[in-house]
Amino acid sequence: MATTSIPSGWIAGAPIGGAGPDHTVVDPATGEPVAEVALAGSAEVDAAVSAARAAQRDWGAATPAQRSQVLGALAAALDAQADLLAEQETAHTGKAIRLSREFDVPGSIDNVRFFAGAARILEGKASGEYSGDHTSSIRREPVGVVGSITPWNYPLQMAVWKVLPALAAGCAVVLKPSELTPLTTLTLARLATEAGLPDGVFNVVVGTGADVGAAIAGHPGVDTVTFTGSTAVGRTVMGQAATHGTRVQLELGGKAPFVVFDDADLDAAIAGAVAGSLINAGQDCTAATRAIVAADLYDDFVAGVAEVMRSVVMGDPRDPATDMGSLISTAHRDKVAQMVARAPAQGARVVLGGQVPDGPGAFYPPTLIADVAESSEIYRDEVFGPVLTVSAFTDDDDAMRRANDTIYGLAASAWTRDVYRAGRASREIHAGCVWINDHIPILSEMPHGGVGASGFGKDMSMYSLEEYLTVKHVMSDNTGVVQKDWHRTVFA
Ligand code: NAD
Repeated sequence: MATTSIPSGWIAGAPIGGAGPDHTVVDPATGEPVAEVALAGSAEVDAAVSAARAAQRDWGAATPAQRSQVLGALAAALDAQADLLAEQETAHTGKAIRLSREFDVPGSIDNVRFFAGAARILEGKASGEYSGDHTSSIRREPVGVVGSITPWNYPLQMAVWKVLPALAAGCAVVLKPSELTPLTTLTLARLATEAGLPDGVFNVVVGTGADVGAAIAGHPGVDTVTFTGSTAVGRTVMGQAATHGTRVQLELGGKAPFVVFDDADLDAAIAGAVAGSLINAGQDCTAATRAIVAADLYDDFVAGVAEVMRSVVMGDPRDPATDMGSLISTAHRDKVAQMVARAPAQGARVVLGGQVPDGPGAFYPPTLIADVAESSEIYRDEVFGPVLTVSAFTDDDDAMRRANDTIYGLAASAWTRDVYRAGRASREIHAGCVWINDHIPILSEMPHGGVGASGFGKDMSMYSLEEYLTVKHVMSDNTGVVQKDWHRTVFA
């Protein structure tokens, strides 16, 4: 993809220029520039929030059918540009084009379709005569202006997960993508305008976290902040939002346990562990990172995972035969490599991988680390790379204890043929999602969000609409008679 100049954002239905500094979007698989952008700053955030505020009233007052019609048109526009979106997604992330084509882009489009439908079935309007002579009704109103901040790992999906429920609920949005990966978010905004979304309802501002992210999170004109990214930055964002007492939703890091009981289908568990740990080169907040395996199966599991990992094709992300592309940057690759390099000193055994390959690009191979100590960094901290650790458990109590021995609680899986074990794991593992005999599948109907250091609130599904709605109670006297008894309790 040739280097082009891209806008610094999309405000009130049109591209904008930023004041700088200039920033180069890089293809991490080659190190070559993909696009140049003059970064925006707080002035552009002010303009975007004003545009959103101006547009939200009419958008919020539109009928469900009107909102649904526009979002449906956006889904069709995205469908028509699916190839472009997949190419852009791979160009700025380095992810395998097969993943972009078969997961990121179709998953995003399905999400748009889902919320086009959801716009028409927003439930919660209830009425009742709770006091006998008054009628209560519940209005579910859009929160107003939403500030969204998204990460680089699934740029289009993360933007869609934030923006679509907000639009379906009648909110207007100001979104900051990661400055490493702004291409598909800008295309989404352009296509939304072309599909008929009123100007100002969805705005994008491209800039750094310190400038644009902080300006959005701390903006007095933003009514709710929704953030996906690291736990450390999420906590900073929460502090910024607290300046004005603004609502927040946080989707943060993860360290998913992958529990293999001794009655599991071992081949299925091995295949699931490889797919679950290497998806998006491991840069996935729900990725399987801690395989916790029954002692009886331990050696076979380690040998089997190593064998399947050896067959994974890492390389040119534009080649459809490639399974795994590069990481997001050489800086991130070096962080992953250093964590792996420190692991043996803490008792671990690197079974496979662990070596930075020669040549350009931020590549890092599938890496399997066995015999990890529970106290070790590689077991406890988020690596966000293609690295799976394995440790053994002694009995089911030990398995549950190990699974929960983390500050995170985003996702987990349990592998067993025993229905009672599966039930116990699904009840006892503290996480927003527990898969049984699988790991990773996620579709628009499924709520996504964590507990503990993984944050709170939900993306996806009907539950995510709650993040963008407020409940208003309206109570009307329906007798026309002065309420003597009631008033006397106050005034007598
Ligand atoms: P990050 O926290 O570094 O950045 C996320 C976003 O926050 C980016 O747009 C960044 O520019 C912005 N930001 C940075 N500093 C900021 C500040 N001071 N104020 C406001 N905004 C700021 O995360 P990342 O490196 O882009 O993404 C990787 C992380 O995201 C991992 O920890 C991963 O687990 C997490 N993640 C979580 C989910 C989830 O759904 N729970 C999904 C994807 C990624």
